[in-house]
Amino acid sequence: MTDDQRARIQEFIAPLLVQPGSTVRLPDDFDPGYSHPGLSKADAPALLEAGIEHLAELQDRLYSQDTYGVLFVLQAMDAAGKDGMIKHVMSGINPQGVHVTSFKAPSAEDRDHTYLWRVQRAVPARGMIGIFNRSHYEDVLVVKVHPEYLRGAQLPPSALEGDIWARRYREINDFERHLVDNGIKVVKVFLNVSKEEQRARFLSRIEDPAKNWKFSSGDVDEREHWDAYQQAFAEALSATSTEHAPWYVVPADKKWFARLCGAAILAHTLLEIDPRYPTLAEDELAGLAASRERLLAEGPLPEED
Ligand code: ATP
Ligand code: MG
Repeated sequence: MTDDQRARIQEFIAPLLVQPGSTVRLPDDFDPGYSHPGLSKADAPALLEAGIEHLAELQDRLYSQDTYGVLFVLQAMDAAGKDGMIKHVMSGINPQGVHVTSFKAPSAEDRDHTYLWRVQRAVPARGMIGIFNRSHYEDVLVVKVHPEYLRGAQLPPSALEGDIWARRYREINDFERHLVDNGIKVVKVFLNVSKEEQRARFLSRIEDPAKNWKFSSGDVDEREHWDAYQQAFAEALSATSTEHAPWYVVPADKKWFARLCGAAILAHTLLEIDPRYPTLAEDELAGLAASRERLLAEGPLPEED
């Protein structure tokens, strides 16, 4: 990858970054229907294919180096395209190097622990790319929209006193800081779909029998809380986009553009790590040469087919 290509990726994703310390207003600050001028849907397949090829090489280096990991957090309203983004962006990557974890409503075992417990257990190992399909952010999003969920969370009274959300933002920032300081790079994507596009996608899930399984009537109930979710997202993005673990707001109304953005953000994160294949020391290289001689001494090799 040339410096020029790096600069182009950086330029591509720059408008999507939530500047650390800034106050986000939704929907004013980020247009869900945006795509870069001069880029059309017809350009997308070739660009995505090239991007994925490049991602695959970076992932191979990351795995071989075994020093850094990448945690890619994906949050969104229903039907924003999380599953499609994971499927398309990860399509060319060695499945052994990627791990996807989906976070649903907490289980009884989860509730017996603090809210970061299940997340910590799923943090990617060194060499791995971990994708969180929903994440610890649910605990400052859905739970903030439905504070009654806190009643079932088995928390002591002291944990409910004061500004619980400010405290959770701090805890999340500290947790992510810990990961980054120890080699696990964190990047976070909010797939920003519009309310109208969500309505259209729900209707298509209802009308197309092959998509019926993706729909649940509870999704329409949650939609009633749209404004509260937008507010909760705006507050979470403002409080937790940091230098060490930035948020990107990806416009999600055009799936082709969202996927390009996802690939570009992941590529940018890997390029910041700049993973390298391990190099061998002199004596190890000498060992390789000796092994080569022994294998060659066994006789001629079979013809390649
Ligand atoms: P998606 O719609 O994103 O594809 P899904 O439909 O496959 O996900 P669901 O069965 O809807 O998955 O489960 C996700 C649900 O779990 C969401 O409604 C989410 O808000 C909820 N959830 C996740 N984490 C929590 C949490 N900590 N507390 C309460 N609810 C949570
Ligand atoms: Mg759902």
